[in-house]
Amino acid sequence: MSLPPFKLLRPRSIEDAAGYLSAHAPDIQIIAGGTDLLPSMKQRLFTPKYLLDIRGIDELRTIRSIPGHGTEIGALVTLSTIEDSEFIRRSYRVLREAVATVASPILRNMGTIGGNICLDTRCLWYNQSLTWRKSCGFCIKKDGDLCHVAPGGKKCWAAFSADSPAALLCLEAELEIAGPAGKRRLPLSEFYTNIGDARMKLANNEMLTRVFLPERMAGYDGVYQKLRLRGSIDYPLAGVAAALKKNAQGIIEDARVAITGVNPAPLLVNEARHALAGKMLNDHAAAVVGELAAKVAKPLTTSLLTPEYRREMIRVFAKRAVLGAGTGV
Ligand SMILES: Cc1cc2nc3c(=O)[nH]c(=O)nc-3n(C[C@H](O)[C@H](O)[C@H](O)COP(=O)(O)OP(=O)(O)OC[C@H]3O[C@@H](n4cnc5c(N)ncnc54)[C@H](O)[C@@H]3O)c2cc1C
Repeated sequence: MSLPPFKLLRPRSIEDAAGYLSAHAPDIQIIAGGTDLLPSMKQRLFTPKYLLDIRGIDELRTIRSIPGHGTEIGALVTLSTIEDSEFIRRSYRVLREAVATVASPILRNMGTIGGNICLDTRCLWYNQSLTWRKSCGFCIKKDGDLCHVAPGGKKCWAAFSADSPAALLCLEAELEIAGPAGKRRLPLSEFYTNIGDARMKLANNEMLTRVFLPERMAGYDGVYQKLRLRGSIDYPLAGVAAALKKNAQGIIEDARVAITGVNPAPLLVNEARHALAGKMLNDHAAAVVGELAAKVAKPLTTSLLTPEYRREMIRVFAKRAVLGAGTGV
């Protein structure tokens, strides 16, 4: 499959990039590592007139620790850089664990954290070639007006299928977004819409520039568990991240659990925090969190695995992730 025609724009600064976005929106799309966007363009899911290749913006390639505040990760930092960072492993382990499961080593060398956060949602009826989609009458996410997953419904249920955002939610990450009016900060928990065909609150003349991890979340133990079809290289069909902190007596001081791969957005399991805080970690407490996570998960037939199985795996993984994060396994 060949790429559709486009004009490549290569800004060297955030200001230049914002200028291009404003001048050409909505006919322009950002490309970072291109590991997801290029295959999608070949499938004619996107046919932008302009591609904004942001890889020349060097200031977005660094991980920087800001004492007293936290850590700033540029949108162009590759997943393998995060995976190999001893600092991230020590301070924000859950992020390192999630990133290390993305795709394959070669794709992690190309793929960026910004691209992972802004990843398109996925569905069995959407991530297909033009011919395949045409033969099914298309779908509401692209070129059609019916949903094959929830017939009669008007909402797109394509599943958010990136790994790192579940970990970033556990770390209370914030995003820096640049646009024509300058920069703004937004908690990651407010970035996603839970609507498959309009997944994030990012205007078409804005770009994600940095991710901030607060210092108060450093040092939490963390685990990420993931269900995928091909163990060596695949998107999550269910993913759970857990991060927790215990005191010297083994009592949980604070905890976060988040899920991905099942709903149109990655989501924090809000009640998990209250279910675990102040308790000794044991099988029962972890099982309660498993039930809470399964309640939040709403998988539909967006993949080859059944919704029932994916929800059950969320329950199982949430329990395992909490136990793993509590014992450093
Ligand atoms: C075979 C295969 C397996 C994969 N498996 C996984 C997996 O297991 N888990 C997983 O999470 N992902 C997986 N991916 C998807 C992808 O490799 C990763 O999500 C990667 O991190 C995407 O980053 P990128 O820089 O390549 O993004 P790109 O492909 O360049 O962009 C992805 C999307 O993000 C937008 N975007 C990129 N950067 C910005 C920015 N700074 N601001 C605003 N918008 C931006 C683009 O416009 C595009 O819509 C897989 C891909 C393939 C081909």
